[in-house]
Amino acid sequence: MSQANKTLVAPAHVGAIAPYQAGKPIEELAREFGLDPAGIVKLASNENPLGMPESARQAMLAAANALARYPDPNGFDLKAALSQRYGVPASWITLGNGSNDILELVALALLEPGSAAVYAEHAFAVYRLATQARGARHIMVAAKDHGHDLDAMLAAIDTDTRVVFIANPNNPTGTFLPGEAIARFLEQVQQAHGESVTVVLDEAYNEYLDPELRFDSVALVRRFPNLIISRTFSKAYGLAGLRVGFAVAQPALTDLLNRVRQPFNVNTLAQAAAIAALADGEFQQRSYATNKAGKAQLVAAFDALKLRYVPSYGNFVLVHVGDAASINLELLKRGVIVRPVAADGLPQWLRVSIGLPAENERFIAALTEILSA
Ligand SMILES: *Cc1c(COP(=O)(O)O)cnc(C)c1O
Repeated sequence: MSQANKTLVAPAHVGAIAPYQAGKPIEELAREFGLDPAGIVKLASNENPLGMPESARQAMLAAANALARYPDPNGFDLKAALSQRYGVPASWITLGNGSNDILELVALALLEPGSAAVYAEHAFAVYRLATQARGARHIMVAAKDHGHDLDAMLAAIDTDTRVVFIANPNNPTGTFLPGEAIARFLEQVQQAHGESVTVVLDEAYNEYLDPELRFDSVALVRRFPNLIISRTFSKAYGLAGLRVGFAVAQPALTDLLNRVRQPFNVNTLAQAAAIAALADGEFQQRSYATNKAGKAQLVAAFDALKLRYVPSYGNFVLVHVGDAASINLELLKRGVIVRPVAADGLPQWLRVSIGLPAENERFIAALTEILSA
């Protein structure tokens, strides 16, 4: 008998994962720098600066009575509400513990060692993490103007490729691909690869798009059996802390996602709050308007400071500051948390989430002071 191995053993592909770097929590900065948490401005995680909708708070209070029971494993009521909103049967919807969970489910269902996933340089970091966690190969395609180069992504699909991830708008760059470009890409993928390659269209920031840019991605799901769209309640709906998102795909793909899904992945409070938030048109309108105004405020300041930025379609702006690490440290000392994006291959840039007018102003004042020192 061989001697038992007594050291910690993990697959090499797990050891190779560089962990996700989240935005610094307010309490952590307060501890590290001895600051008053109340004076700290956090513009680092693309959260909704309006807080959560009051309608969702009320729905959660009512749902709290049921917390001794497991959540509805099939999310019947939330799926019914989503089904009505998007005009698809409930059997086309998968609920996730945040849309991160949806991305993980895709990787779990479709990737394995020997297979590959394609995504863009500077795309959402979770595509890499989910792919690596499966021991699959990742094919990162160079960005074009900080966004996805769909022609190059099409060309990068090889015989092992099972998944293509597209973030639209993309995080952290804020770039956007119009509906026609997405539709053409899907046609090309289908022509060249049939249904052997699944395309994930991650639309976490969809609700922030100006109305004239919105396109009916659910109609694309009806046309393409290899398309999954992913949405979240974390951003425009203001429920990041609850962790709830969803996917829309045809039944065959939806069935695969549900085979690898934890039965109780979306908790009772999250389901109740999401139903309320979905119906809260007033809050959604306010989120959109606050974001649009805040974006104009930040961009005007960057113009005045002669800083380059990537025109953003999300609730954040990527701005070129040069020595981003030092400037980030100076911002932290002044109680302003933004997001360094060196890990996304953007060492000279910072990503700033759009806050309330006063929060944006705090950031602008701090940045102006730092740059003029
Ligand atoms: C924020 C974000 C998500 C999802 O976040 P969840 O909170 O897990 O729903 C997904 N994709 C992109 C591109 C994001 O920026």
